[in-house]
Amino acid sequence: MATEGVKEKAAAAKVKKAAKPQELTIDVASMEMIERSRELEVETIFDRAATMKPCNIGAQGTCCKNCAQGPCRLPLPKSGIEGEDTRKGLCGATPQTIAARNFARMVAGGAAAHSDHGRGVAETFLAAARKETEDYRIKDTQKLLEIAPDFGVDITVEGENGEVLDRDIDEIAVEVGERALAQWGQQTGEVATVKRAPGPRYELWKKLGVVPRGIDREIVEIMHRTHIGVDQDYENILEQCTRAAIADGWGGSMIATDLQDVLFGCPYPLKSSANLGVLKEDHVNLVIHGHEPLLSEMIVQAAELPEMLELAKEKGAKGIQLSGICCTANEILMRHGVPLAGNFLQQELAIITGAVDAMVVDVQCIMENIANVAQCFHTKIITTNPRARIASGDTVHIEFDEHTAFEDAKKIVRTAIENFPNREKEVIIPRQSSDLVAGFSYEAINYHLGGTFRASYTPLNDNIINGRIRGIGGVVG
Ligand code: SF4
Repeated sequence: MATEGVKEKAAAAKVKKAAKPQELTIDVASMEMIERSRELEVETIFDRAATMKPCNIGAQGTCCKNCAQGPCRLPLPKSGIEGEDTRKGLCGATPQTIAARNFARMVAGGAAAHSDHGRGVAETFLAAARKETEDYRIKDTQKLLEIAPDFGVDITVEGENGEVLDRDIDEIAVEVGERALAQWGQQTGEVATVKRAPGPRYELWKKLGVVPRGIDREIVEIMHRTHIGVDQDYENILEQCTRAAIADGWGGSMIATDLQDVLFGCPYPLKSSANLGVLKEDHVNLVIHGHEPLLSEMIVQAAELPEMLELAKEKGAKGIQLSGICCTANEILMRHGVPLAGNFLQQELAIITGAVDAMVVDVQCIMENIANVAQCFHTKIITTNPRARIASGDTVHIEFDEHTAFEDAKKIVRTAIENFPNREKEVIIPRQSSDLVAGFSYEAINYHLGGTFRASYTPLNDNIINGRIRGIGGVVG
């Protein structure tokens, strides 16, 4: 262990010499924290990136370990001439087959992660619709009525005299929840929400035979096809990637967005701020990091309880500052205006401020090393999801269950508050934070372009067509 420590220090010293913070990032707040991490000899992703040497074969996607005979490593032929490429794995797999299989497994991983998020939302939605939990309820009934027909759920019934009557909203919610959840295990037919795609696009998918049958099915089929000796035609493998990607984008992820909007309300534009400067030295800082709004929505409510604010004052803090990192941050930003402490690359840097009393995480984008960084400070890392625990460091696990969601959230907020007096290192928070406006949901844009009676994307489309709007940028993590 001592030798390991010496090696790490030597590596850190090398990085210190090699890469100046301004060579690693353009963000001034991050530069300051990278500098601070070097002073404290705390390793971050910026150090690891500077010393990481990518594997050439891995970069080409031609290393296969899909069966126990491998790994089979296929370096480029010295000639570099395609016709002379005689590379093959032990089973005879060509570089094209291996690269396609590796790419397909990445698609399966991404689709599984995002869609499993959707499954969790659908389960909570159904629990709320069935009134099995008091912590969540159907909030946006208008959106519920809009999405119900996509799942084949009627929103009206015929009365005794043939008149059209509104259906009971709770009945609609239960039926939508059941049908939405069924999209994951569906074996035949089409994922219900795929039909929302523009007509010509949907027809093209049909013609190519890539309309997904069920969300889980397409992901499992990738794992099957990429097993040794199954699909050995790279074009055929990529076709299945398309099917799984559509199952996620137009299925799992889209259903997650819809049901979250119904549960928590559609986002509308609001003001907030972003960057490490949103942390407050004299407040309890609880950073929410991960992916899902189910937990963060409850934490926002719990942090506003008078009993929590009282407890924070008892511990010497002026209040509770919530902030977010990554996708969870976006969820609580666009519905509650909770500021962003940073992006994926700033998760370690937030802890290095010395001001984070707890960082609560759920799933996805959570660097394992935050647990090691937290050990150098007083910060508690709280894992909450049985799918995502961290073996490194000294993390606390408070399991989050949708049936006891609010109580779980209160426990998490209390843990952060009680840790406030334990700050041991000097608190250094960069001053930088930028104002922003968030919350541009589909519904909000639609409304802002035409008001209640003329809500439409027509003004936007017209101005793109006539050239007054030169382009629209999308930033996708
Ligand atoms: Fe090697 Fe083929 Fe096994 Fe891959 S599947 S590890 S290429 S033998």
